[in-house]
Amino acid sequence: MKVLVINCGSSSLKYQLRDMDDESVLASGVVERIGEPMGRITHTELPEADEAEKHAEERPIPDHVEAMRLMVEKLLARAVSSLDEIDAIGHRVVQGGESFSHPELVDDRVVETIRANIPLAPVHSSNTTGIVEARKIFGDTPNVVVFDTDFHLTMPDYAFMYPLPLSFYKDLKVRKYGFHGTSHKYVSRKAAQYLGKDPSEVNLITIHLGNGCSMDAVKAGKCVDTTMGLTPLAGLMMGTRCGDIDPAILPFLAKHASMTLDEIDAAMNFRSGLLGISGTGDMRDVHAARAGGDDNARLAFEMFAYRVKKFIGSFLAVLGTVNALVFTAGIGENDADVRAEACKGLEPLGIRIDPVKNAKRASGIREIQADGGPVKILIVPTNEELEIARSTVAIVRQNA
Ligand code: ADP
Repeated sequence: MKVLVINCGSSSLKYQLRDMDDESVLASGVVERIGEPMGRITHTELPEADEAEKHAEERPIPDHVEAMRLMVEKLLARAVSSLDEIDAIGHRVVQGGESFSHPELVDDRVVETIRANIPLAPVHSSNTTGIVEARKIFGDTPNVVVFDTDFHLTMPDYAFMYPLPLSFYKDLKVRKYGFHGTSHKYVSRKAAQYLGKDPSEVNLITIHLGNGCSMDAVKAGKCVDTTMGLTPLAGLMMGTRCGDIDPAILPFLAKHASMTLDEIDAAMNFRSGLLGISGTGDMRDVHAARAGGDDNARLAFEMFAYRVKKFIGSFLAVLGTVNALVFTAGIGENDADVRAEACKGLEPLGIRIDPVKNAKRASGIREIQADGGPVKILIVPTNEELEIARSTVAIVRQNA
């Protein structure tokens, strides 16, 4: 069964075609800078890893409709000879609100419900465009939507509610939703499997550190708390997002810096985090600048790790017993300095990292706690596309 996974972001479209009989990737690509004067598409064919072929092309890509058309053109060039060869399409949808607790087969009702949730995540109306276009392009091929939020719908009310007037929740659905659920779910299942347990037998703190960053407290396989909130702006410090700040900073800036709400929103999302403090939103560049003696880069790195540490402490309290910390995504999987700094000082709480194991570069799942450390510290590579493809196969089979 061939499954095409589509992830429409606000200005990008990522896609991956997999043969789910052996889960191999046949082709993948990313369309970037959609809506900007010059866009870019990078397409990779992967019939066999050592024959991988990459094509990049620059051209204006005005909208997601054109991005989808380009994706189809690239796929038809070699990966498939006809679109009929694609058996199902899986879409990543950022916000499922309270309406979706698991992936769903797309029909008109599902599209309308996703549309109704757009006010909760306005930048991601592009998700809907991807689904609507795919239904037009691929005809009767089943489409499945997989939500970034559904793994978090198991949070108890005292964890997902904000202490605001109750009507904000009742009338406007203002609550904590949490994001990166596909990744947290995937790595928590993988970690349980690695530990030789059923997910229901383990408590985990999953730590997704990429450009966006979030953490989950996972109790007996279910999410009971998460760092992101109504939007993906909350919680940890990120590449360009601020994470948790005093909400009174907003009216302060409006009053004293004459900024509009939109300007403050843009500053918090695109000019804050690592970028806001150090001048770069990429952790590798932060390290390079730090090594060169840049004090703002030092500060950005220490702030970033300190916030991860604070949430580890908070989720230890939430869970009581923790079997493992699970680091994942670009920084979580690759950055030994961030892992070491975030765990520093937590030894009395059972979190003891082994510096040699932590520094060793390797692929796949690995343990980096010191011998005898009561809490395991795991690195588990995430694979959101594979999780979406697997969910897609499961839903299509259920509905067959
Ligand atoms: P996204 O959220 O866009 O999927 P990724 O998971 O790819 O992001 O993570 C991007 C972040 O990971 C960047 O800050 C990047 O610097 C960092 N990163 C990637 N590889 C490494 C590495 N080898 N060492 C340190 N940081 C890395």
